Amino acid sequence: MGKKSLSSLDWVSRFLDETPGDEEIGGAPRQVQGACWSKVEPTPIPDPILRLWSTEMADELGVIEGGEEFLGGNKIANGMRPYAQRYGGHQFGNWAGQLGDGRAITLGEVNTGSKILELQLKGSGITPYSRFADGKAVLRSSIREFLCSEAMHHLGIPTTRALSLVSTGEDVVRDIMYDGKPAPEPGAIVCRVAESFIRFGSFQIHTLTGDFDALKKLVDYTVKHHFPHHNVDNDDGLIEWLKQIADDTASMIAHWMRVGFVHGVMNTDNMSIHGLTIDYGPYGWLENFDPGWTPNTTDAERRRYRFGHQAQIGTWNYARLLESIGPLMNEPEKLYDALEFYEVRYQKYSNALWADKLGLEEFNSEDEELVKELISILQSVETDMTIFFRLLSKLKEPNIEELKFAFYDEDKIPIDKWNNWLNKWWFRVNGEPNLEKMKMANPKYVLRNWMAQLAIDAAEKEDYSVAIELYEMLKNPYDEQPNYEEKWFQKRPEWARHRVGCSMLSCSS
Ligand code: AMP
Ligand code: MG
Repeated sequence: MGKKSLSSLDWVSRFLDETPGDEEIGGAPRQVQGACWSKVEPTPIPDPILRLWSTEMADELGVIEGGEEFLGGNKIANGMRPYAQRYGGHQFGNWAGQLGDGRAITLGEVNTGSKILELQLKGSGITPYSRFADGKAVLRSSIREFLCSEAMHHLGIPTTRALSLVSTGEDVVRDIMYDGKPAPEPGAIVCRVAESFIRFGSFQIHTLTGDFDALKKLVDYTVKHHFPHHNVDNDDGLIEWLKQIADDTASMIAHWMRVGFVHGVMNTDNMSIHGLTIDYGPYGWLENFDPGWTPNTTDAERRRYRFGHQAQIGTWNYARLLESIGPLMNEPEKLYDALEFYEVRYQKYSNALWADKLGLEEFNSEDEELVKELISILQSVETDMTIFFRLLSKLKEPNIEELKFAFYDEDKIPIDKWNNWLNKWWFRVNGEPNLEKMKMANPKYVLRNWMAQLAIDAAEKEDYSVAIELYEMLKNPYDEQPNYEEKWFQKRPEWARHRVGCSMLSCSS
């Protein structure tokens, strides 16, 4: 099938046509009642320039490169019917009330022939859900979102996607570290793509405002279009549907744990109903293996969303989703089944990921001890997670010598401890770990925080070559790609240890 321009794609509006909306059009931030969306218009920008383009996403949509007038929000094509979604959420454990798309505007849904995908501009100006903010996005956070969401896709991890990044030609003022030093930064807009952007918080807002009619309509809509094999006319059907969401969410979080991804803001408004990684804000990648690490400075004290806590937060968030569906059930006690199911599924995925990372044919109960010990030794001195597991995937004999490059200070390696563990593991796999399996579970290249920062530093000087190089490299994260090795298969450089944007990220974006 030939590719088309953005404006001649087959645009549809299922969400607007089939769920309750806001009477008032557009504008000023306000509390909206009983609606799933508000109609809005993107705010025009002075100088849209297309800077990054995902050819893989474009192929899926069947769209030819270009269309910055639409991707920057300056024009609306026939068939596009822009809106902002209303949702609520628990932020850092507390109910925050109405949140919604404060700086995201959906252009519409595109029927590609095989599926229907929603296209959304992030950073396109004020909506009724913008609360006290400006609805814009800065270049630095947009580059992080574009690169990371595409990298996650190529790692095989469910995620929202990015089609494009357009620079806006206008500055946006941000106080990056919230320390009273606001400064202008270049603005940008990412066009992101997903089957939908419905979140746990999309349901919560109706339940917590007592609007069970809107809740029922949104559930029926979601199931009809996104879970068509489910029937939610009765309690058992609702539980089956919720178990599907449990499964998808557990699988997504296990993938994050496999590759060392820390989401950073696992609020219930950032939990996709499809189990997609969504909302790339102050996320980060583990460099030294530290389960207590979070990149998010806003969470630095409690570290609620630290790496090692993500599965438990998944449980907590999923319980909030279950509660929000309770009013539609005759016997809400049945929701406990679903909650238990999440835990069982997560354990299953977690075991499988360790089996893959360690090249075991399958995970046995005795392997728990082996993994526990590994996690403990990995923390004894500063050890790079990605490099360690990648080198482990090539090991010819159980000797720590071959893994030295993963350590920040080779003199401090606890050699006996390591050789002892390596021998246990070697014995477990009969000297033949499944190396092919390991290489597909232990990526060689991930978007380390300092790598994204180098791309940002260059882009802020209008040089997008680093961003493009990373985008190309991260299309094949499991391949050796020796041409990139010297530059990018590296531990965190010293300059990045304490630099804002590398070791510390705020929600300011
Ligand atoms: P986040 O932490 O990015 O998931 O955002 C939480 C909430 O704040 C969401 O409702 C966002 O739409 C909103 N928000 C974040 N940044 C902005 C902004 N610059 N303008 C308007 N709303 C924003
Ligand atoms: Mg969000």
